[in-house]
Amino acid sequence: MELMDIKAIIDKLKSTRDVSDAELEALLAAEDEEALAYLGACAREVREKIYGKAVYIRGLIEFTNYCKNSCYYCGINCKNVKADRYRLSDEGILDCVREGYELGFRTFVLQGGEDPFYTDDKIISLIRGIKTMHPDCAVTLSIGEKSEASYRAYFEAGADRYLLRHETASPLHYAKLHPADLSFENRMNCLKLLRKIGFQVGCGMMVGSPFQTTQNLIADLRFISEFKPDMCGIGPFIPHKDTIFKNEPQGSLDLTLKLLSIIRLLVPDVLLPATTALGTIDPEGREKGLRHGANVVMPNLSPVSVRDKYALYDGKICTGSESAECIKCLSARVACAGYEIVVDRGDHKSA
Ligand code: SAH
Repeated sequence: MELMDIKAIIDKLKSTRDVSDAELEALLAAEDEEALAYLGACAREVREKIYGKAVYIRGLIEFTNYCKNSCYYCGINCKNVKADRYRLSDEGILDCVREGYELGFRTFVLQGGEDPFYTDDKIISLIRGIKTMHPDCAVTLSIGEKSEASYRAYFEAGADRYLLRHETASPLHYAKLHPADLSFENRMNCLKLLRKIGFQVGCGMMVGSPFQTTQNLIADLRFISEFKPDMCGIGPFIPHKDTIFKNEPQGSLDLTLKLLSIIRLLVPDVLLPATTALGTIDPEGREKGLRHGANVVMPNLSPVSVRDKYALYDGKICTGSESAECIKCLSARVACAGYEIVVDRGDHKSA
């Protein structure tokens, strides 16, 4: 397709958000550098109209790498006997929060495997602990699929947001990435419950996950534009050496950047992180993500002693440095991309 035609699709996407599957397919296939640059510039323009030059930061606390599930792509799945398992204590978690607050974080994300050790009562007491210590902060949970009653109890305890990537919007693809005891229907139902309960909700998927087709990505984009999540986490798939997908290729940088921009145009006010996985496949991946429409970064606040153990994939960056060092490095990177980290909860703004 000619550059002119691709640009026309991008213009249409930006002004009407209404493009056909064939047009999305053409956009995803386009390799022209100028087309990608134009797409990125449109995404930046839309992002800046709503969020200005601000980049929101989320302090990620990876509090457990125990997991009862065996997602085929994930390095901490329960079948991986080589994973060195850890759990942070309540005190350990609150220490991360204390340190993060000093560093300017106003959102804390508790992420982990699905670890039954952390009962609802324990999670509730953690939420309350953080909220009591810092009522001006937002608490985000990313702890997988739970019952409606559990989600409701977390929300009532004060949790503000919930991240649950849908992983893929195609049921057949979902079944190729997960064992039979995990279902596409339940994952999607969880997202609907979270929204109904009142959370700010995040979905998302990996780019280039095994068996993923262009049609799967189009289904993801359709789902995202209909669901209109408050947040959307996308990053490249990266193989982990102790999983059955160890020999699968990693997702591509350009395709991830393209998808970030398309998502920004489809859902202009979405909170869109430049993920750690993106920074892992390219030394300037996160800066490039910010230049393609992303407006959030999620540095790691976990204690350095456990960081390399939360290994969802190989080669994860920032596992060796202290949180203070990380935020300094990241601030410079964000400035390099022409943006600025702000001390703010970074709530979703409606366009
Ligand atoms: N247990 C929680 C948190 C999952 S970890 C939950 O189920 O939601 C957060 C995300 O990391 C996952 O949703 C997945 O999309 C991503 N991830 C897992 N393994 C990965 C890999 N090998 N490469 C890239 N991203 C991966």
